[in-house]
Amino acid sequence: AAKENKSGYAFFDISLSQRVRRRNMLELALRSALDHDSKGLWLTLQPQVDLQTEQIVGAEVLVRWDQAGPDEFVPLAEGSDLILLLGDWILEQSLRHLQELDQAGIHLPRLSINLSAAQLERQAVAERVHELVVHYGIDPRRLEMEITETALMSATEQVRENIRQFRMLGIGLALDDFGTGYSSLSLLKDWPVQVVKIDTSFVRAIGESEAAESIIRGILAMGRSMGLQVVAEGIETDEQAAFLVAEQCPLGQGYRYAKPLVLTLFMERWQQQNGI
Ligand code: C2E
Ligand code: CA
Ligand code: CA
Ligand code: CA
Repeated sequence: AAKENKSGYAFFDISLSQRVRRRNMLELALRSALDHDSKGLWLTLQPQVDLQTEQIVGAEVLVRWDQAGPDEFVPLAEGSDLILLLGDWILEQSLRHLQELDQAGIHLPRLSINLSAAQLERQAVAERVHELVVHYGIDPRRLEMEITETALMSATEQVRENIRQFRMLGIGLALDDFGTGYSSLSLLKDWPVQVVKIDTSFVRAIGESEAAESIIRGILAMGRSMGLQVVAEGIETDEQAAFLVAEQCPLGQGYRYAKPLVLTLFMERWQQQNGI
């Protein structure tokens, strides 16, 4: 038994040190990429559709890197100042994308950008967005910031100031992964949120869990009575779509409609829809 324990421990040890090595390697590589014209980093846009008509009414910006997936490198960046550099690059590129779309005659009504808690807590991020909208000639009311519950839970002076300035600029606030946290409802009472995004985990359970379906109905009813927009995320199947349409969920996003697309493909997709 001692031998087993010993080898078990040794195995754990190796995999732990491998993970630490990968982390350090990725951190160095990401820092280097951000220092060198963001080589290997790019943005994708995932269409958001009106669920009744299936027309594109907006898009969410999702970052990509050739060395790792966002579920790995975004949290890694959040562990250091890298998230501020990465977040800043994402903001600037997002506005550039919107400008390029405008120049191509594609007037996307709304672009949603994910903000990390660290950006809201440690940076005058709203001021930065203000500079960028002026520089790129974008109407700030076309922008929406997606934030998670954790970002609003600290509620430091910097967080409050950023949220206040976003509101003054007419930039919308969306609560991401809605329903998965501990205090989703009280956050809606305390913060000027206009959009809630029903988390993928509920959408995935449509047809399988009556509890999940009831929660979705509850979020939609609350959205209607509070005048909030509701976006269902991660819609993959016809069955999920049919349920959401029947329950009058206004907006949706997911592989059933479109994957996250690089700018040129997003433009093609838009032009197909609009028969250009
Ligand atoms: P999120 O903000 O909840 O983004 C939604 C995720 O669902 C994206 O994963 C998207 O590609 C994926 N998705 C969309 N439709 C479907 C579908 O039909 N089925 C399934 N299974 N998945 C779908 P992605 O792009 O891998 O991003 C993962 C997470 O990484 C994001 O979750 C977000 O937390 C973070 N992230 C991605 N891009 C950014 C960014 O630009 N800034 C920040 N701060 N975080 C980002
Ligand atoms: Ca998001
Ligand atoms: Ca989400
Ligand atoms: Ca997520």
